[in-house]
Amino acid sequence: MAEDKCGVMGCSQPGVRSYSRDAVEKGGLKVADEKAKRVHLCKEHNKEYKKATKDERRLENLGR
Ligand SMILES: [Zn+2]
Repeated sequence: MAEDKCGVMGCSQPGVRSYSRDAVEKGGLKVADEKAKRVHLCKEHNKEYKKATKDERRLENLGR
């Protein structure tokens, strides 16, 4: 059960953080396991995810 590998499709790097699958998909990443509730992200994908969510947050702030 302790799967610590990156859950992104085609990636098998060790995960550094875990997020809900929903959040990861909103960040534009493809999750390999469609049934997973939580997804681990490797360093690279974590960076991508953070970038995506940061952009989203910035847009939200601008919209206020
Ligand atoms: Zn990855």
